[in-house]
Amino acid sequence: MDTTQEARTVAGHTLTPGTRTEMELRPAKLPSGGWMSIPVVALHGTRPGPTVWLSAAIHGDEICGVEIIRQVLAPLRPREMAGTLLAVPVVNVPGFANGDRYMPDRRDLNRSFPGSKRGSLASRFAHAFMSEIVQLCDVGIDLHTGSDHRRNVPQIRADLTDARTAELTRVFAAPYALHSRLRDGSLREAACSRGATALLYEAGEAWRFERDAIEVGVRGVRRVLSHLGVTSPDAASADVVPTTILGSSSWVRSPQSGLARLDVELGDTVTERQTIGVVADAIGTTQRPIRAPRAGVVIGRNESPVVHRGDALVHIAEHNAAEHSAGESA
Ligand SMILES: [Zn+2]
Repeated sequence: MDTTQEARTVAGHTLTPGTRTEMELRPAKLPSGGWMSIPVVALHGTRPGPTVWLSAAIHGDEICGVEIIRQVLAPLRPREMAGTLLAVPVVNVPGFANGDRYMPDRRDLNRSFPGSKRGSLASRFAHAFMSEIVQLCDVGIDLHTGSDHRRNVPQIRADLTDARTAELTRVFAAPYALHSRLRDGSLREAACSRGATALLYEAGEAWRFERDAIEVGVRGVRRVLSHLGVTSPDAASADVVPTTILGSSSWVRSPQSGLARLDVELGDTVTERQTIGVVADAIGTTQRPIRAPRAGVVIGRNESPVVHRGDALVHIAEHNAAEHSAGESA
């Protein structure tokens, strides 16, 4: 029972049914005078349906999601779609240009939501994205990678106590999912408090393209869009491996300063007290084993061998437990 979708206005642009529109949000001006602008691609379908946002590079150096959005958008034809897809491949535009996680005012954009029109630079970016895009949306997927040389196994972090969120997490079908409480100032918290359903996808490493992280992300986003009826049924929806829901997680920290050699890969299962690597000083005089304090799955690892005592080395999540909460996150 398809009916025709109406035209609508997004960020001051009129979207007519069956069209793709490229536009810019203008949250602030450069000190030199020109606008800092956030690029947006809007695909407005011909049939009624939900409004969905895709976002990446809220942390400016987390670029896998930019490529995921590019690949998701490439084959889409608005005439064959329902609802509206609002894609924002780079939210933290200045951080992206500089390979920097943070905004130029040294604030974390993902702790600056919902933001304010008259706030700091980060707050203005958050406000523009929130008020022009996120507030229009029923569902959103925010794409991230590990930070500071940490690489993450493809995983969804979301409020799995919410039935709708848990449903879309299953549809996305990343290898792993962790229940993650909503953090103050995060995009996810701001969006959920306005009634949207939000998933956070974490995979790969900052400032790198990683094939597996990108492929899993592209397939997952496509499955969710298809499930929501925004796109037609997706061939990738068949034969999915169910997501493993993991329990609480924590980082194993280095027992001394030196060079770490890790013996575990992402997705490996470890047992309690298992030796998962060694850290030694530069000439190898003092050497200490790194042991897993708990049994679980390796969901993140530090790819930078030079470490200080206390640096995060390996992120281990317990196999499902009744009580779940993610440790340090995006
Ligand atoms: Zn991030």
